[in-house]
Amino acid sequence: MLTIVTGGSRGIGAATALHLAGEGHDLVLGFRSDPRAAEQVAEQARARGVRAVAVRADVTSEPDIEALFTAAADLGRLTGLVNNAGLTAHIADLADTPTETIRHVLDVNLLGAILCARRAVQVMSTRRGGEGGAIVNVSSSGATLGSPHEYVHYSAAKAGVEALTVGLSKELAAEGIRVNAVAPGLVRTDIHAGAGKPERVETAAARVPAGRAGEPEEIAPAIAWLLGEQASYASGAVLRVAGGL
Ligand code: NAP
Repeated sequence: MLTIVTGGSRGIGAATALHLAGEGHDLVLGFRSDPRAAEQVAEQARARGVRAVAVRADVTSEPDIEALFTAAADLGRLTGLVNNAGLTAHIADLADTPTETIRHVLDVNLLGAILCARRAVQVMSTRRGGEGGAIVNVSSSGATLGSPHEYVHYSAAKAGVEALTVGLSKELAAEGIRVNAVAPGLVRTDIHAGAGKPERVETAAARVPAGRAGEPEEIAPAIAWLLGEQASYASGAVLRVAGGL
């Protein structure tokens, strides 16, 4: 098994990478800005006995995506993609959100996922000479809740990710590729600090029926399950892992 995890340097991506390493996946970990963090995750994965490399790959850049897939080709035959890279960037009503921020959030969360999925299909599709595989897209509970007063444009992007999941699962069912999504709720990662509100993990926890934020390690097994052979008949599913949210 050889899997690409975009945004594998921290948070849910890093937890997923380490979970997958424990299951024997060789890994290519994409990151955007922090090579040291990504290399540390790769090292921890290698300590679990698999091969793992970190590659700088902004998912909005086609040459960067190409570098990610070239690194995978150097390791062997690609069998999986976790489309995890994402950000919220900014917390406000839509009317107070700059165009540049909206564009960036859509580019990373939606366009990036689409471009990476397209490249993975070109490699893994049995109709195109590949051996099949699985794609797991990381969505958000926001795709169905809408995230009013926080980031409706982000939620719109994640709803797009869920439509991508459904459509692509049907397009590829006869080509040996399953496509599923995981929709986390509130998870304790740096994404909230990245949007200027590190305290959101605590303040938003009151809205979660479970009464607390989830940990990245509670999302990773769902992603790994959908990626793996035990989910051989699951395709087009969106698995919500959100403490009841
Ligand atoms: P995080 O801790 O902030 O990590 C985000 C990861 O994405 C980092 O590895 C980051 O790389 C990478 N990244 C950001 N922009 C990128 C770009 N343009 N190109 C490539 N990589 C990029 O966030 P997280 O909470 O783990 O989020 C992971 C996924 O879960 C995202 O899709 C997010 O939308 C989704 N999600 C999170 C929550 C939550 O509450 N945490 C809830 C629902 C859904 P660098 O560090 O190198 O920049």
